Amino acid sequence: MTNAVMPPAAPPTRPRLPSVERLLGEPDADGAIRAFGRSAVTDAIRAVLADVREGRAAEADPAGLLARAAVRLRDENRPSLRPVFNLTGTVLHTNLGRALLPPEAAEAVAAVMTRPSNLEFDLGRGERGERDAHAEALICQLTGAEAAIVVNNNAAAVLLVLNALAMGREVVVSRGELVEIGGSFRIPDVMARAGCRLREVGTTNRTHLRDYAEAIGPRTGLVMKVHPSNYAIQGFTAEADEAELGGLCRERGVPFAIDLGSGSLIDLARYGLPPEPTVTATLARADIVTFSGDKLLGAVQAGVVAGRRDLVARIRRNPLKRALRVDKMTYAALEATLRLYLHPERLAERLPTLRLLTREAGAIRAQAERLLPALTSRLGDRARVAVEPCTSQIGSGALPVETMPSACLALQPPGEGGRGSGAWLKRLAGLLRACPVPVIGRIADGALRLDLRTLEDEAEFLAQFDRLPL
Ligand SMILES: *Cc1c(COP(=O)(O)O)cnc(C)c1O
Repeated sequence: MTNAVMPPAAPPTRPRLPSVERLLGEPDADGAIRAFGRSAVTDAIRAVLADVREGRAAEADPAGLLARAAVRLRDENRPSLRPVFNLTGTVLHTNLGRALLPPEAAEAVAAVMTRPSNLEFDLGRGERGERDAHAEALICQLTGAEAAIVVNNNAAAVLLVLNALAMGREVVVSRGELVEIGGSFRIPDVMARAGCRLREVGTTNRTHLRDYAEAIGPRTGLVMKVHPSNYAIQGFTAEADEAELGGLCRERGVPFAIDLGSGSLIDLARYGLPPEPTVTATLARADIVTFSGDKLLGAVQAGVVAGRRDLVARIRRNPLKRALRVDKMTYAALEATLRLYLHPERLAERLPTLRLLTREAGAIRAQAERLLPALTSRLGDRARVAVEPCTSQIGSGALPVETMPSACLALQPPGEGGRGSGAWLKRLAGLLRACPVPVIGRIADGALRLDLRTLEDEAEFLAQFDRLPL
């Protein structure tokens, strides 16, 4: 007996839903159709109706259903790449886009993006020009380099220098500098990809000038030093003096390159920050220096190769340069940012990276105290907020052992229960990441900490907490 089952229960009363066609014909749908197209709006309405039919959402009148479709469309069309609040305490955060451009740079980019430009056109002579012209003169003026070129990033700059100056030959590097910088950039691997043979000298902790002197020979194409960036060797250490090593290389007729990484154009110690070697000082010792555009320099993702004219010319002629070259956006942003350096008195105010790095802990604390009541009233009894001291770091490979005193808003569960449980903090962190402008903090010592060193737009920050479903 196939039908020996319970007679079907009376079907639950189904809401009488309007048809897709009917909803598409509502005047309320017009705006969405103009913005997103009929087919996308149809799909969104279908999804909203299915939610009601299958019990995932409550019934609503046509206007309510269309409003839900509009929210769906807005969420689906939100750009994947968008602004966030970086309150992690790491000012140059590689995962969060590193340096923030000054408005002058953003304007310069916008100006050349939607109109033709003289990217590779010499306006004086009316003939084909060189795209590096837009950055080279300024880089040379600011660093004392004889010539300079710009490529996609510093990893590309290192690859290009190695390939152009030492393909098929040996590159002499200290064993203590065979570092990995963020994931996939490992000096020995880059060296192999550039077609160079690595000639390690010295030991992990100590390398002397004589180690280099013994290694340099007829097969040497280049001597390279790598700024160790995101780690520090401490204790019984020694490295060859860069000036002496430069002298040795000149004597032997071998080019000497330094991969500087951060590439500060100014003396950070003057601003009370941890000292970093400047490009200018490094160029006085080396023939070629490579550095990033979006670390301490505070501009856009780029890699700069600066140094001796004859070597830069060789590097420029290398076919890889074409593959690693940058777009007009990059030159526009880099040029506008470099121009700010010509006016050093106002640099700390106009260059966002420097402005954030040089904020005083007292001012950050005062900002936190000022925001505390507004945040507390928004969170009500759902979370406790306190102002606490913390430390920020520069990030992006600048000395990791050096930190800067700062202040944070520390969020914890309500009540007296001491430090927050991991699950509560993780949930809160997730909710903050889901905000219209996601707020990224750091979980440490039983609290979700929002380091305010990098907070400039306070109103927009507070607005994220207006509808937090906590
Ligand atoms: C950051 C860094 C790099 C890589 O630079 P990107 O611009 O991120 O490609 C290479 N070398 C050193 C020493 C660095 O600090």
